[in-house]
Amino acid sequence: MQEMFAGKKKFIFDIDGTIALGPNLIDGATEFIEGLLRGGREVYILTNNTSKTPDMCSEQLRSYGLDAERIRVITPLDACARSFKSLGFESVYWAAIPEVGQYLTRLGLRFEDKRPQAVLLAFDKTITYEKFLAITRLLHEGVPYYATHIDIVCPTQLGYSIPDVGSFMELIRLTTGKVPLATFGKPNPSILTGTVAADGNFDDIVIIGDRLYTDIQLAANCGAMSVLVFSGETTREMYENSGLRATLAVDSIANLL
Ligand SMILES: [Mg+2]
Repeated sequence: MQEMFAGKKKFIFDIDGTIALGPNLIDGATEFIEGLLRGGREVYILTNNTSKTPDMCSEQLRSYGLDAERIRVITPLDACARSFKSLGFESVYWAAIPEVGQYLTRLGLRFEDKRPQAVLLAFDKTITYEKFLAITRLLHEGVPYYATHIDIVCPTQLGYSIPDVGSFMELIRLTTGKVPLATFGKPNPSILTGTVAADGNFDDIVIIGDRLYTDIQLAANCGAMSVLVFSGETTREMYENSGLRATLAVDSIANLL
C-alpha cells in the first residue's frame, strides 16, 4: 500500500471505466481491491448506474471474481428512497426496469401512474415512448420531478457510450421545459452521508473514479481524497482543461499497486 493512503480506511470505487468496462475487469483492479481487503480496509462500490439493483451489482462483482460478500454496493436508489420518505412521498411514478421497481417497492415506495406524489426517472433500459408520454403528462400536471442521477452517457466495452439518464432528462427538458428538482447519485454527497459517511466525516475516505463531473466532483463536494483514472471517460487533456483537481491522477488502477 502506498504511503499516500496512510490513515485512509474507506475506499469507494466507481465501476464503469474505473474497475471494469462491460464484462471485463480493468487490469490491476483485482489485485488492488484484494490488497485493500487483506489490509483491513473497507471497500465500497459506488455506482450511479440505476439500471441495476445493488444485488445485481454484487452479482456483477462476483462475475469478475471479486469477493462480493466483503464489498458493499451503493447506488442512488437508497438515497432516493430516504429523501422521498423525508419529503412524505410514498406513491411514485417511476421509469425503471422491473427489478429496480421491485427494489423501490421493498424500500417502501409504491408505484402509481394516475396521481403520484412524485415522478422518478431511473436508468430505465426498458423505457418506451409511452413512459415518456406518462412523464410528460405528469410534469404538465405539476407533479414534482426527480431523477436518480445526472450521467449523460454510460461507457461500454463496445468502444462507444450509450444513452443514460442525463440524455433522457434532456429529452424531457426539451419537451416540457422541466429539469429534476434533485438527483441522488454522485456528485450529491447525500449518497454517502446516509451510508459510508453516516458520521459526516470524509477524512478517512478515498474516492476513485474516471468521471470528472460525478466522481471527482463528489470528492470535491465532500472534501474527500480523490483518485482520477484515465481508463474510462476522461482524457488527460479533458482533465487539464477542467477546473477540477483530483488529489491524484493516474492512467489506471494498476498504477496504484
Ligand atoms: Mg465511471
